[in-house]
Amino acid sequence: MASVVTSSELGTTDGGPGTSLTPAQKATLDLIRLPNEERITHASNLAAQIELELERETIDFVDRLDEPLWISKRQLHAVNSCEALYEAQEEQSFEWRIPMTRGQIFHKCVELSIHLPLGRTASELVDEAVTSIMGRGDGLAEFLLSLGDVERAEIRSEVAGLLQTFFDTFPPLRSAWHPTTELPRKVLLHQGKIVLQGRFDLTLGRPEELTAGRVLIELKTGRSVPHHLDDLRFYALLETLVVGVPPALLASFYVDAGRVQVEHVDEDLLRSAIRRTAESIERLVELRLGQAQAHKRPSGACKWCPVAESCGPGQAWLEETGNGRVW
Ligand code: SF4
Repeated sequence: MASVVTSSELGTTDGGPGTSLTPAQKATLDLIRLPNEERITHASNLAAQIELELERETIDFVDRLDEPLWISKRQLHAVNSCEALYEAQEEQSFEWRIPMTRGQIFHKCVELSIHLPLGRTASELVDEAVTSIMGRGDGLAEFLLSLGDVERAEIRSEVAGLLQTFFDTFPPLRSAWHPTTELPRKVLLHQGKIVLQGRFDLTLGRPEELTAGRVLIELKTGRSVPHHLDDLRFYALLETLVVGVPPALLASFYVDAGRVQVEHVDEDLLRSAIRRTAESIERLVELRLGQAQAHKRPSGACKWCPVAESCGPGQAWLEETGNGRVW
């Protein structure tokens, strides 16, 4: 068995033996496959260099931390958008809402579709996913159990629709592509005073020694927003630090539209991710220690922000854009 996704594995026009592809599946495959000649071979000390650089950039303020600072893509996005909203959300206890369940169930369906024998319909997979989630006893399970039959049926129907679109527009996942779901990555900086972490929705392929080969794919059940690129670049950094070789490609797959956006990974991309991550860590430390005032940066988030009523810039933005008016 070949050890990486190559153009001969992922790059065939029919998606593999016995598989015929829809035009949309072929378009997706053409974008996420990487010809062998485009795969980059990286230096063996790349991960060590990046770790050194990140630690050097954060050494001045890490000593101020009395407990570990956990950083995920959410925190990085928060300090690069409205910090006041982030602080307000940190103070609120987390509550599941119906729209959030869609993505969770959808991801579970994709996971099951890889690991269960072929042949299940989208609706059958959704049923298996909902049953599995409801049996695990966590917050999402409790939330689903608290819903009525009609609400649960509506969620099932919505996710089945999304999953069918996924099956119609994403090439069938072959085991030769080494697919994984929910692949966790964790990096400890400064002996664990700073912890960087992430979990990749879907990966295909894998590196071969120092040659990049893995494709990191985020499955998006909502619309495209610019920070999705930054999220993936942070994941490229995590992958490099943990595995020692960067991913070959980053991809956001928008399930509603059945379309993928891809970005090739090179050292310039990693460098910009290091910069953003180091600057964001500094800002998070300042906010955590109360050494900085949270910036208010109005945006579409003001429409649902829990502190919008008492936020001057947020109210001004809502007035200006017409979102604060009744009609
Ligand atoms: S209303 Fe807008 S600007 Fe104000 S805190 Fe909320 S998101 Fe930020």
